[in-house]
Amino acid sequence: MNTAYVYDPIYLEHDRPSHPENAQRLERILRVLEMENVLSRLTPLEPRPVTLEELERVHTPALIEQVRHAAQSGRHLDPDTYTSPRSYEAALMAAGGVVRAVEALLSGDIDNGFALVRPPGHHATPTRAMGFCLFNNVAVAARAALARDHVTRVFIADFDVHHGNGTQDAFSTDTNVFYFSTHQYPYYPGSGHWRETGDADGAGTLLNVPLPPRVGNAGYAQIMTELVWPLIERFQPDLILVSAGYDAHWSDPLAQMNLSLTGYARLAQELVQMANTLCNGRIVFTLEGGYQLDVLAYGVLNSLFAMLGEETITDPLGPSPQPEPPVDSLIAQLKQVHHLN
Ligand SMILES: [Zn+2]
Repeated sequence: MNTAYVYDPIYLEHDRPSHPENAQRLERILRVLEMENVLSRLTPLEPRPVTLEELERVHTPALIEQVRHAAQSGRHLDPDTYTSPRSYEAALMAAGGVVRAVEALLSGDIDNGFALVRPPGHHATPTRAMGFCLFNNVAVAARAALARDHVTRVFIADFDVHHGNGTQDAFSTDTNVFYFSTHQYPYYPGSGHWRETGDADGAGTLLNVPLPPRVGNAGYAQIMTELVWPLIERFQPDLILVSAGYDAHWSDPLAQMNLSLTGYARLAQELVQMANTLCNGRIVFTLEGGYQLDVLAYGVLNSLFAMLGEETITDPLGPSPQPEPPVDSLIAQLKQVHHLN
């Protein structure tokens, strides 16, 4: 497999060491990928900054201007969302990094890839930067893919523990983008109820799976089998994008879910298998959250193994010490809402 990664040192220049979403996250990922001898097996892709035209397919000019201004003085965009002097450039390069990976994939230069970018993106709405996110990298990349002739449907899978409200907002009325999210609920940012299934023409193109705390490997696997497989087969995507957040791990400091690194690896394997079955293996992962640094790094490593076509799973932390609640009634509810069987 020709598996690529996107990285640029500017991603470290959006930084505040006392904030959980800081530059150390990417540094740890790179260190572990190197230590595990995986980095040298990947094709490095140099990102480019996203163009304003590409960015404005998702965001308003006012939001773009607001981010640029805030960064000049290192102002917060909301209580959770800091900027530093190079944040605007880093954010342009983060969105451009995912676009770059998608471009390389669609032109056949690579088979799949992981955009190791910061700041993250999935909370950024068309009009608002929030939740550690400045621009919505995955949404911008989905629009860039759709702007090409041979791509008509994009499936976005988001296994970050938080609901990707920004991605949902960008595509809730769009028939050509399916957004699937598992998230702790109720929790930040508050959206992602199972009743949110898309609006107007986009009705049926959102799969929100709001989970109670402590759901883990078994629950997530059941969701993939009983909900995601039938819905992605119905949708028939040309490309799968993954908002890869590793904060649903049992040891993450910001949330209370029970996935292990093994559970995460199986999710990645399954998404790769979906891409292999439905769209010639076309899949790009992009980094979102994950605040326990070893989990983050090994989570990325295992996702790369999945893209390389290997069954290897590295799980130094082991399974969750806590039992997980059943998700059967939630799944039954969702099957009904999405007209499955
Ligand atoms: Zn998150």
